Amino acid sequence: MLKIISGLLLLVAAFNCAAHQPHEGIQHEPEGISDTLINVIRPTEDRIADLLQIEIATQPQQTLLLLSTEVPPAHAMRLSWKPQQSLDGLHLPTPVLVVNGATEGPVLCLTAAIHGDELNGIEIVRRILHNLDPENLSGVVIGVPIVNLQGFHRSSRYLTDRRDLNRYFPGDPYGSSAARIAHSFFHEVINHCHFLVDLHTGSAYRTNLPQIRGNLHHPEVAAFAHLFGIPVILHSEGTEGMLRHAAVNAGIPSVTLEAGKSQTLQESAVQYGVKSILTLLNNLNMIENKHVPVELESVYYQSAWIRVDHGGILSSHVQLGEKITKNKILGVVTDPITNNRSEIISPYNGQIIGMAVDQVVMPGFAGFHIGIQEVEKKISIADDISRRPQTNPLIRTAESE
Ligand SMILES: [Zn+2]
Repeated sequence: MLKIISGLLLLVAAFNCAAHQPHEGIQHEPEGISDTLINVIRPTEDRIADLLQIEIATQPQQTLLLLSTEVPPAHAMRLSWKPQQSLDGLHLPTPVLVVNGATEGPVLCLTAAIHGDELNGIEIVRRILHNLDPENLSGVVIGVPIVNLQGFHRSSRYLTDRRDLNRYFPGDPYGSSAARIAHSFFHEVINHCHFLVDLHTGSAYRTNLPQIRGNLHHPEVAAFAHLFGIPVILHSEGTEGMLRHAAVNAGIPSVTLEAGKSQTLQESAVQYGVKSILTLLNNLNMIENKHVPVELESVYYQSAWIRVDHGGILSSHVQLGEKITKNKILGVVTDPITNNRSEIISPYNGQIIGMAVDQVVMPGFAGFHIGIQEVEKKISIADDISRRPQTNPLIRTAESE
């Protein structure tokens, strides 16, 4: 049984679609219903379990073959993945932690530091993988704490050729260095996953409220997003080349878990992430956990970065997670030479889900990321499309994943 409480939430009509077989390709909504973005009641526990094929394990687990290594049931091992993108003899093997449970179940993959300077996820993966008891696990957890070792060694988001690895999945064996690394990782590791959580933080001196991001147009992804007990879920289709985007295209329900900022290790974000993954494992029936309290979630279908129009020193007047109303002063930018002050005003009702830390900024700098509160409406799937909430083309989300 899932341990989730129900609540009135925004979700896609896609939950009304007929059930199908997950893990064999995510079902795309039929033509004509794909943009039915409406507010409906959150799916029931049974509906989520049905979509994701969550069952109680009864059979003993099999030996897992991963990266040319056999991992017996009820065993934890450290394997390594070699992208073969370095000089012969200077291979940089990337650790892959595996816990194969005693009973059957899904394969959950956790990936971190695809951006080499995002440290919180590394510690989240370490704590989860090293504290799992194989005897009391159903299924498999595969954890890759540092996907981008090249960037990690240089405290950099990027690969050594300045490319962003998270724009090259599922990769190309004959493409650029980044495309070849992505191809190797995707085919040797990610193809084994039934579910994927990619861990990220804010980039470039910005910090993110803990949140799940996923393409909620996919029924399985939307169902999966509700299993973490994280109170903020943001609809984001993701861009071509992102790991979660490519994984969803390959039939693997995938989300991003964002928490905190880059270049630093934040204990509160790490603890939050660990608690969320344990909640997920519990809800997937992979571990038997204590009762996990679930907070009521907010689902945002739209979000926008509010940019500053004047350069100077940014000082914020709001905090991460704060609920805000339209016309609220989010912060002030003061020119250190002229002493001119300009206020940054919120054009929306919503919640601060990401923000810049106080710093010197230039005009156009994205300062505050707002999850936009929509007027809650209940519309049936048959209603006129003109009455449905539409995506505002003027809203641009600065993708940081
Ligand atoms: Zn990232």
